[in-house]
Amino acid sequence: MKEGIITNIQHFSLEDGPGIRTVIFFKGCPFRCKWCANPETQKFHLELGWSKGSCLKCGSCVKQLYKYNISLKNEEVNWGDKSGRGGSIPSPDEVELACPTKSLHIIGKKYKVSELIDILIEQKPFFDDTGGLTLSGGEPLAQPEFAEALLKKAHENGIRTAIETTSYAEWNVVEGIVRHIDYYMTDIKVMDSELHEKWTGLPNQRLLSNIGKLLKQFPEVHFRIRTPVIPEVNDNPEAIIAIGRFLKTFENRDNLEWELLKYHRLGVPKYEALHREYPMGKVELSQEKFSELKSVAGFVFKSIV
Ligand code: SF4
Repeated sequence: MKEGIITNIQHFSLEDGPGIRTVIFFKGCPFRCKWCANPETQKFHLELGWSKGSCLKCGSCVKQLYKYNISLKNEEVNWGDKSGRGGSIPSPDEVELACPTKSLHIIGKKYKVSELIDILIEQKPFFDDTGGLTLSGGEPLAQPEFAEALLKKAHENGIRTAIETTSYAEWNVVEGIVRHIDYYMTDIKVMDSELHEKWTGLPNQRLLSNIGKLLKQFPEVHFRIRTPVIPEVNDNPEAIIAIGRFLKTFENRDNLEWELLKYHRLGVPKYEALHREYPMGKVELSQEKFSELKSVAGFVFKSIV
């Protein structure tokens, strides 16, 4: 547990929970949602990335990092290991020395809890009455000891906490973490488990069971359920109504809300940087269709945001 692997730390976020927040993105996720906008957070190990736009095509990386099989062909920088198993990659220092523009870079950095707490304490004056720390990813629950230790320390330092999670973990992990959370955001993508597995790589029974238990057992925590509306997956009234019916069972809570998120393609350049194909092809979701589905959700469940 000594260190966690983090892909990014984003300050002054207004999108990831209430108020002004610092978001810490964990590296590694058990799912492979085909529409994932953060593919750099999926694998659990450090990996190489390359940004085409800032690359000078100077070949310095090829010369200096020759032992890592880096090549420059057809104006593209490439490297040996694309297996997803980690392989041998240069150290962050080696990459920084080799590439003058940071076009070639290492994705992920190891941190100790104390290092992140120091960063959060510096940011504390900027958190307003509701803001604080949000753990995101990737999947924070997939580095459970590190996540729990960080959340606990944040609370001890008077910093409010939130999490963006799939809720996919052993129940004892979820239960241990939620005790240090003020605001819990989790996805329900689709109720049909076979469809869920087809589009995300895993079935949904475990996460639905965890969400059900959380909503029953933790009345003091604020919950926001999120449904990304994705073409071909759940962009139809039946799929939205099925989620709404599940949530309706818990409608007596006044701190439970449901948010529908419109499909977007902002992650596409990141796939390019990782030399990976974007799995969703060219699909789009119209604003009109999204608004219709949001209205449908409003008929089933009262608290829509
Ligand atoms: S990745 Fe960096 S070092 Fe390699 S060719 Fe591009 S700019 Fe030069």
